[in-house]
Amino acid sequence: MGYVGEHVKFCSECAAPVSLRIPVGDDRERYICSFCEKIFYTNPKVIVGCLPTVGEKILLCKRAIEPRYGKWTLPAGFMENGETSLAGAARETLEEANAKAINLKLYRVFDVPHISQVYLFYLCTLEDDMFGAGPESLETGLFRQEEIPWDNLAFPVVAQTLKEFLADRKGGHFTVRNSVVRVQRPVVNKG
Ligand code: ZN
Repeated sequence: MGYVGEHVKFCSECAAPVSLRIPVGDDRERYICSFCEKIFYTNPKVIVGCLPTVGEKILLCKRAIEPRYGKWTLPAGFMENGETSLAGAARETLEEANAKAINLKLYRVFDVPHISQVYLFYLCTLEDDMFGAGPESLETGLFRQEEIPWDNLAFPVVAQTLKEFLADRKGGHFTVRNSVVRVQRPVVNKG
């Protein structure tokens, strides 16, 4: 496998080009400045989001951005510097669904090593049951189990998380799961 992290082209210290080399004493390739030898360590991105419920219904957002424009998803996005994962999940829910997430509980962890990402989904309820489309959403909506648009979900991890949630809810017990997404797969899940 080649370099799967964020790419770096130029040194942020001296503007010289960087190249991939294994530093002395290291065991993997890093971007190193050709002039000042500064090493640029890139690390995985964390995507944080929520599975918000209002009563028995689940809040989904229709994406107004690529990739998967027009597909339904859970509110989620990149964790920001200096915030906690929980606060990031609540922030994304506010930004994408104009909804105030409360009672957040970690529910699902996906490791996606081939693109160096980690997804964290929290279960939550809403402070006042108010929601609406933020700038990155075309619309938002509450879905009963039988109304979930399985054929129009944006990402396999969203479908998987929803299926697990519905099964856990039926069983009356919610389990935190962690699994690895090995390759990109098309959305083929059916309720
Ligand atoms: Zn440099």
